[in-house]
Amino acid sequence: MNSVLKEVTNEARTNGPGPGRAWNFSAGPAMLPQAVMEQAQAELLDWQGTGISVLEMGHRTPEFLQIAQQAEADLRHLLDISDDYHVLFLQGGGTGQFGMVPLNLLGDSGKSADYLITGHWSQLAHKEAVRIARARVAADGATTNYCKIPDRADWQLDPDAAYVYYCANETLLGVEFHDTPDTGDVPLVADMTSNLLARPLDVSRFGVVFAGMQKNIGPTGMAVVIVRKDLAGNARSNMPSLEDYALQAKAGSMLNTPPTFTWYMAGLNFRWLLDNGGLEAMAAANRRKADKLYRFIDASSLYYNEIDPACRSDMNVHFRLRDESLQQGVLEAAGAAGLKALAGHRVTGGLRASLYNAMPEAGVDALIDFLGEFERRHG
Ligand SMILES: *Cc1c(COP(=O)(O)O)cnc(C)c1O
Repeated sequence: MNSVLKEVTNEARTNGPGPGRAWNFSAGPAMLPQAVMEQAQAELLDWQGTGISVLEMGHRTPEFLQIAQQAEADLRHLLDISDDYHVLFLQGGGTGQFGMVPLNLLGDSGKSADYLITGHWSQLAHKEAVRIARARVAADGATTNYCKIPDRADWQLDPDAAYVYYCANETLLGVEFHDTPDTGDVPLVADMTSNLLARPLDVSRFGVVFAGMQKNIGPTGMAVVIVRKDLAGNARSNMPSLEDYALQAKAGSMLNTPPTFTWYMAGLNFRWLLDNGGLEAMAAANRRKADKLYRFIDASSLYYNEIDPACRSDMNVHFRLRDESLQQGVLEAAGAAGLKALAGHRVTGGLRASLYNAMPEAGVDALIDFLGEFERRHG
């Protein structure tokens, strides 16, 4: 190979998604860092000289306990989580927490909880809470079609609520809180399924933070749940033990067999984050990536974004075509160009590019180049 060609090939290898791989803009299960995938591949058959795959390893063996404990330690380090909090690795994904939060935090108290509805996922969380306990709507963005977070002045918070619940990043339309709401002494519960680890977070502001793993953390099958210790231990008396935070904490999140491979993959990702500048570096990269794409969309005459700029998400960039008849064509052309999973959620339609930590800036550049070229041809 001559040296110029070699350089070009190396460049493609560094700046491309990896040999045989597409740029994957899926909202979840989502792209994982190439280095994490390669490490999992390299040790798939033989984990660190044991001759056993993590897939085949007992969850109570010293080897797996080491993997699990290291994952928790690395996550605590990344988010600077104090000993006042349990860190749980639970089954049931993000949605599982929609029920576990009221079961654990409202318990048998007869109190109610306040919900901020800013889109699809907070809506579903509220719906689930209502099945179980008393849950009020303290604010609802329906009048602005969830394109804007209701003004703080219009929230009707109950000072006696057991907690205030919100979704920090609504994944469908890409509506993100860029500040942590102040709820005084009322514990704050956050669904951060699609933005936990996107930037540093002051966990001490929260009662509970949870995240289903398959967006920004790992494969599907689990949720990370960070619970202030004083909020665990008051769960409803007549509920399944698997859903009780205090019992799970006591059992090291192993009341039963956990999804071990998912836990392991999350651990590889935590390690990758630590090795790549931690959450400060992720925050800077995520800001740059999202900013670039929004600027492109705002300058375009074919694509548009309808979200209030004050709460546009760094993680999920939703956009539409002014000529909707081009929707199928743009998706097909993108797929052919190696840009995958750009269709919006079935509830919202449109297009959506999810730019989680694992998406390199080169993927965003490739997307912008493609969209620009498509606009020149069809705009
Ligand atoms: C995807 C998602 C969920 C649901 O996650 P599951 O693991 O599928 O239950 C909940 N909340 C948010 C913000 C999400 O993006």
